[in-house]
Amino acid sequence: MKCYVHKDADAVGVCPTCKQGICGVCANKIDGNLYCKNDAVNIRARSQKKKGGLPVLLELLIDVAIAAIMTIIIYALALWLGWL
Ligand SMILES: [Zn+2]
Ligand SMILES: [Zn+2]
Repeated sequence: MKCYVHKDADAVGVCPTCKQGICGVCANKIDGNLYCKNDAVNIRARSQKKKGGLPVLLELLIDVAIAAIMTIIIYALALWLGWL
């Protein structure tokens, strides 16, 4: 099999997404798999959206806020019922 870009270069792997042969120059290793340039860009863009950024921080803040509110409610309820 030859590289889909460099027709005279032998492929070192096959892109799992588009099933095209990729040579050492075109191959991009992500999570132990070799991807062609186009798919590597797409996968990196997707994983960057998942990791880091504001949405994850917001999610964490909401989790902390919910935990704090639950603690206050349980404490207030315990006080009200005379458990403490
Ligand atoms: Zn590909
Ligand atoms: Zn190539």
